[in-house]
Amino acid sequence: MTSTPSRLILATRNAGKVTELRAILSEAGLPHELVGADAYPEIPDVKETGVTFAENALLKAHALARATGLPAVADDSGLCVDVLGGAPGIFSARWAGAHGDDAANLALLLAQLSDISPEHRGAHFFCAAALALPDGTERVVEGRLLGTLREAPAGTRGFGYDPVLQPLGESRTCAELSADEKNAISHRGKAFRALVPVVRELLG
Ligand code: IMP
Repeated sequence: MTSTPSRLILATRNAGKVTELRAILSEAGLPHELVGADAYPEIPDVKETGVTFAENALLKAHALARATGLPAVADDSGLCVDVLGGAPGIFSARWAGAHGDDAANLALLLAQLSDISPEHRGAHFFCAAALALPDGTERVVEGRLLGTLREAPAGTRGFGYDPVLQPLGESRTCAELSADEKNAISHRGKAFRALVPVVRELLG
């Protein structure tokens, strides 16, 4: 397997995530070349068997670092609702059963919260981002986007629960923000930016 010493791999097949982290690393002046997991199609996806966002991010990062011999970054994120004790949490993508059915997940969540008044609809997006080295060294950072949940979806941008999460201090939902506006305040943006000093510390 060919590689350059400064190559860093992100455990995702989502091109948007790769572009976002690549821009953050390059704005910080870090020279590392970031590639997505698609660059290594022969490596299978890892089962997310952890019970926390950090565990799942670490599982994915370690598996990829071991398989490629490269430093690997992985993120895991979801929506945590106050009155649901932090659920859907790590089950965000499969809250209504089928993995990744955004519309069904959103409809179920809104139905569950139908009797909950606006002042009790606090929630946040959470993201854990892990960096693992082939020698087993690991670090985890996190980011949160605090907000409240609307009673009905609004906006057509984004994905997942974006149409119902209204960030604190905003009058729009995440699905009404531009990608740049959301990246500037998002849980993933914050976690990825928190990785910059970690990459600098471990990879120079
Ligand atoms: P992932 O692990 O980052 O792919 O996110 C898992 C699930 O959490 C997604 O399928 C969404 O349901 C939810 N989620 C995570 N981040 C966001 C976000 O930024 N907006 C909306 N939903 C999100």
